[in-house]
Amino acid sequence: AKGIGKRAFLRYADAMDGDIRRRANLIGALRRAIERGELSLVYQPELLLADGRFGAVEALLRWNSPEYGNVTPDEFIPLAEESGTIVQIGEWVLHEACRTLAAWQRAGVDRRLKVSVNVSALQLLRSDLPGAVEAALRDSGLAASALELELTESVLMGNAEVASERLHAFRRLGVSIAVDDFGTGYSSLAYLHRLPINTLKIDKAFIDGLATPDDHEDATITATIIAMARTLGLQVVAEGVETEGQLAFLEQSACDIAQGYWISRPLPEDACLDFLLRAQAR
Ligand code: C2E
Ligand code: CA
Ligand code: CA
Ligand code: CA
Repeated sequence: AKGIGKRAFLRYADAMDGDIRRRANLIGALRRAIERGELSLVYQPELLLADGRFGAVEALLRWNSPEYGNVTPDEFIPLAEESGTIVQIGEWVLHEACRTLAAWQRAGVDRRLKVSVNVSALQLLRSDLPGAVEAALRDSGLAASALELELTESVLMGNAEVASERLHAFRRLGVSIAVDDFGTGYSSLAYLHRLPINTLKIDKAFIDGLATPDDHEDATITATIIAMARTLGLQVVAEGVETEGQLAFLEQSACDIAQGYWISRPLPEDACLDFLLRAQAR
């Protein structure tokens, strides 16, 4: 029995070792990914339910590594955070997203369309983020009103003072702010209301349960978040809308915006431009 235990442990240690090695290798590869042109953005359209227009696109990062293939953001974003590389990557994302929307505007996309960019904790805390945002706007010629930044609820809760200071700096620039993954971080709307926030994005976890046989809790929570947000003058986005039934529930609950595979998958730059121009022409 001892022998088996030892063998099992060695297998475990081996697996651990492989895992640690992969992480270290990924971090090294990630450092070189920007200059090697391995990063790209895809854009997911957000539908305004009241008028059927697309109000924004969310920029989502993709990494195609020659060594590791397509690595998902859920794997590489945490590594980029731990290693600090997220600061450079985040600046690249800001510049690329602003450049893209400015180019789309020249191609005829409605000027009211915004681009929404995800910002990580380390970026918010450590970098001169307001300065980086200003630089991205200046270099691209994009108006500040066309840019939205997404911060998760837990980032805002965990670093209340810095977050508040940064958010006010963004507000002064004229950039809008969305709270991402809302509903998962135990913050109160009363607390968030003291911050200069424009939009709440209800986490997909709640949307998943809508329009299913046992949806009572998720439906109640979602409808309550929407109603409270309205009272506070915030816009509400439902994330991860995958079915017609979910969309119908959100329309009935007077949700402002829907985002998810049912409306569109995240699209590469050119495909998204086509999609938006086609939708405008309808
Ligand atoms: P997130 O900000 O919550 O983004 C939404 C995620 O849900 C995206 O995953 C999107 O592709 C996916 N999604 C959208 N609609 C649906 C749907 O109907 N069904 C399902 N199953 N999924 C849907 P993605 O692109 O893999 O990104 C994962 C996470 O990685 C993001 O979650 C965000 O936290 C992070 N991330 C992505 N790009 C960036 C970035 O540029 N900077 C930072 N800091 N984080 C990023
Ligand atoms: Ca997001
Ligand atoms: Ca989210
Ligand atoms: Ca998420």
